[in-house]
This record gives sequence, structure tokens and C-alpha cells, in this order.
Amino acid sequence: MLAAGLLLTACTSSSGASQPAARPSSDAVVVTAGPVTAEPSSAVLPGATRPGSVPPVVGNGPRIGNRVALTFDADMTDTMLRRMAADPTLSFANRKVIDILERTGTPATFFLTGEWVEAYPDVTRRLAGNPAFELANHTYRHQAFKSPCYSLPPIAPAQMTEDVAHTFDVIAPYGGRQTRYFRFPGLCYDDAALRALAPLGVTVVQGDVVSGDPNATAAQPIVHAVLTGVRPGSIVVMHITEANARFTDEALQPILDGLRARGLRPVPLSDLFR
Ligand SMILES: [Zn+2]
Repeated sequence: MLAAGLLLTACTSSSGASQPAARPSSDAVVVTAGPVTAEPSSAVLPGATRPGSVPPVVGNGPRIGNRVALTFDADMTDTMLRRMAADPTLSFANRKVIDILERTGTPATFFLTGEWVEAYPDVTRRLAGNPAFELANHTYRHQAFKSPCYSLPPIAPAQMTEDVAHTFDVIAPYGGRQTRYFRFPGLCYDDAALRALAPLGVTVVQGDVVSGDPNATAAQPIVHAVLTGVRPGSIVVMHITEANARFTDEALQPILDGLRARGLRPVPLSDLFR
């Protein structure tokens, strides 16, 4: 069901150096947020597009070279929050994944829900504090922007724009490498959902390699799914939702080893599109 029609369009512009942003001319500028010197305007963040235009949908980067992007979704729903309240030992933040990424110096991009950020401000600070990590938007409470979408409750179309705008507001104070990248929950969307995002100046980033980690009952199928699907330009979709994706950390090191063996190099999303 994933992304039959997803293609990176903006990357093939004649400049050859673009990212999926509708940017007038100088492609070379922008994009990386090194040390943050001042509050950047959203217009210059990676993934920023012209507000008012239906956002581009990106499934992968250029199929040349050796770059791939590892992305991790931080889902949170009202149901998950209730489960946490009932069982304080339950964790939806897989710190072991972050440990491995940090220990190996591996860049990654994190698609955060607003409720996850609010539940895990300490972990969010840790992510924002790592210059190899980018932060992106995965809606406020992980509702379905097109139904049906697995078992996710739908969001009313009239609330979509505000939901995503609010999520940017929740993430922004953490600083670090902020972006205007956005991913739909469950990767489910339609034209109405895309139009709802138009005022926000985002790039929708889905992915071409779905690891299947939320449903996995062991690490090996995750490793297999990633390493058999990955190729130059791939965007790999994984999760840091621990209790809902129990084997992601166990799968991660074999995945990193396999990428290295294939000569593939993980980069932040904004570097993939460069
Ligand atoms: Zn998700």
C-alpha cells in the first residue's frame, strides 16, 4: 500500500543540487542548520515550500551515489497516553535506539508527534541537542488523515491544518535542526489532506523502505525488510516507540552493518535531497 505514486520530483531539477523546496534560485544556501545562531524563519528550514502551494510528496531521494536516510517515527495517540497512565513502566521512547545512533555517530531524522514530545521532553531535548539529528512533524496525536488507516481514529478535515501547525509549535522551542518535513500517520493521505497542508509550507516525506518494526515479533524480519529494500536514495521508515516496536533497537546495529557492507551511508534527510 505504500507509496506507489511517490516520487521525488524536486530533486531532478536542472540545477541538480536542489532539495524539495520551492526556492527561487540559490540552491546552495540554506538547508543545514548547523549551530543555531538565530531563530530561523520557517522559510529557510529544510523542507520549506511556498505556503499556499499543495506540498510535494517525497518517497525517496536521488537513486545515485550512496546516501540513504534513516527516519524514526515517534508516534503517540490518546490511547497510548491512557496506557502509560495505567502502567507507568510502559515506555514509548526507545532510548536504546538513540544510544546506538549516538555511539555510532549515525545521522537520522525523527518524525515527532506533539503528544510524544510533551510526554518525553527530556528525550526530545536529547534529540534536538545532537547536530546529526533532524526533527520533523508527524501530527499532534497520530490520527488518520485519510480513513481507514489501520486502526487510527480519523481527524476532522477542518482540524488538519491547525493540528500540524500546532505540532510545529510544540517542536520549535527545542531548537536543534528543525525542518518543515512532515509525514502522515500510517502514511495514509489523499488530496484533501494534502490541500490542508498547503498553508504550512511543508514537504511531505513518506519513504520507500518500510521496516515493519511496529508489528515485528523479532529483529530479523526488520533487518531483512530494510536490507533487501534499501538502495541509494532510500528513505527507511522505523519507529522509536519501544512498547509498540519492541525490536527496533535489536535490529538497528545489523541494519547499520548491512548498510556499510553495501556501501550505503546514512545522512539526514536534508542531505539526501542535496
Ligand atoms: Zn506514525
